[in-house]
Amino acid sequence: MTENTPTTGFNTRAIHAGQDFEPITGAVVPPVHLSTTYAPEKIGQLRQGYDYGRGTNPTRDSLQAQLAALESSKESARAFTFASGLAAETALIMGVAEPGDHIVMGNDVYGGTYRLINKILGRWQMTHSVVDMGDLAAVEKALAAKKTKILWLETPSNPMMKISDNSALAELAHAAGALLVVDNTFATPYLQLPLSLGADVVVHSTTKYIGGHSDVVGGAVVVEDPQLAEAVQFQQFAAGAVNGPLDAYLTTRGLKTLGVRMDRHVSNAAQIADWLTSQPGVERVLYPGLADHPNHELAARQMSGFGGMVSVQFTGGAAAARSVAEHTRLFQLAESLGGIESLMNYPAEMTHASVAGTELAVPDNLVRLSVGIEDVADLIDDLDRALKQV
Ligand SMILES: *Cc1c(COP(=O)(O)O)cnc(C)c1O
Repeated sequence: MTENTPTTGFNTRAIHAGQDFEPITGAVVPPVHLSTTYAPEKIGQLRQGYDYGRGTNPTRDSLQAQLAALESSKESARAFTFASGLAAETALIMGVAEPGDHIVMGNDVYGGTYRLINKILGRWQMTHSVVDMGDLAAVEKALAAKKTKILWLETPSNPMMKISDNSALAELAHAAGALLVVDNTFATPYLQLPLSLGADVVVHSTTKYIGGHSDVVGGAVVVEDPQLAEAVQFQQFAAGAVNGPLDAYLTTRGLKTLGVRMDRHVSNAAQIADWLTSQPGVERVLYPGLADHPNHELAARQMSGFGGMVSVQFTGGAAAARSVAEHTRLFQLAESLGGIESLMNYPAEMTHASVAGTELAVPDNLVRLSVGIEDVADLIDDLDRALKQV
């Protein structure tokens, strides 16, 4: 079942798309193809289209087919996987844009995305502006101010958990002749399908929920338009930031269970967010599933679940946030997110240190929880203990 099969459900596609059994032995798990090179029948006549591992590799193809089938039901959908999320973003931008092109991005995009566009692509004469994606008039103005190649959206955003209107932003981008790129790392295709809401490109850090076990770094670009696919594929081949076969295999193995993991992440996060709202010392809980979240209705419309990420702000300021972050036991203090184990992050000095002092800076009384799939009662006990230390 290498074709996209839109008639089957998400979990069926996650387990079967791109996962044909191995024809010689019948092995139901396709083998990991480590070989870097392939012997042709004769000069100029490849056996199955494979010649050299940077260009194509069967294990990477298997992951790419699996991911494409999950992000889109269109026959033309193609996914391309890379050594990291940022490698995927770099390949996309270098593949579709030119020096001098302009990018408009949300004021809450992933710090590494901002750094890439600002510090690296800036040196290649690309310009950018930063805008509140929740303010459609401001986005329209930014798009009108300068001919724009890419509108870059992250929803839910990190770590403020803002939800922006994918469909409305797609319309604005297209009216301005720009591509809408959506970083779907936080929601995953299980909870949100940006291409079906008008986006042109989805990017992922597969390091997070897609791999799901905090043991493999990777990234992906997914598109439906054949010309975009050609541009990204050429970049993948010619610039070469590919993921290796073992990494591709681990990512495929994680992706097979994305649906069941997300169900538990979402249910645990919802219970924790709810519990946190009634705790002393908590100023604000940022979770799109809460009825008082400013974008709750939009989230309910645009997503099929509210995700596994919860941010919390404390009345006791930075000292309280730091103390909570350092006193949990099950929630481990670490960057990253989306693994089965719960993680605690202090963005101001960890994940978002690179944007300190910029318009993307994060409040210093905030911690971000990546809620894992442990027993929720144990996670709440853990947070309870840490909150009582403050
Ligand atoms: C982690 C992350 C990235 C970057 O991905 P890497 O795999 O670390 O290169 C991009 N966007 C979001 C939302 C992320 O969380």
